[in-house]
Amino acid sequence: MSKLSIKVGGIPYRVKWCKTMKHVEHEGQRMESLFGQTHFAKHSIRVAKDTPPERQQETLMHELVHCIVLHYQINEMVDENGVHIERAVDLMATGIMEVLTSLGISLPDNNNEFYGINKEK
Ligand SMILES: [Zn+2]
Repeated sequence: MSKLSIKVGGIPYRVKWCKTMKHVEHEGQRMESLFGQTHFAKHSIRVAKDTPPERQQETLMHELVHCIVLHYQINEMVDENGVHIERAVDLMATGIMEVLTSLGISLPDNNNEFYGINKEK
């Protein structure tokens, strides 16, 4: 069981890897298949572990961008109904991942306890 937590806006979000995409949804009623989901009130991020490690890392970054949009009130990334604009969140996550990867920094995934700066490059 993961004890990982990542702070956004001073709030530690607990990160949990779920067995399959069907187990990601926090309320667990629709049994929808999701790569990841954030529950803002519970300060919880869930990521499916039945996907490739790269996908898990991208998903985690995507969810962290949602947290950043919320805590830093980036209204430019929110539509008129208060819903985060998924395309903007996705592009921001992709851009941040590119920067981190080019610096040799990897995000955690289900079976990577050695995330951080990759010294082997
Ligand atoms: Zn999203």
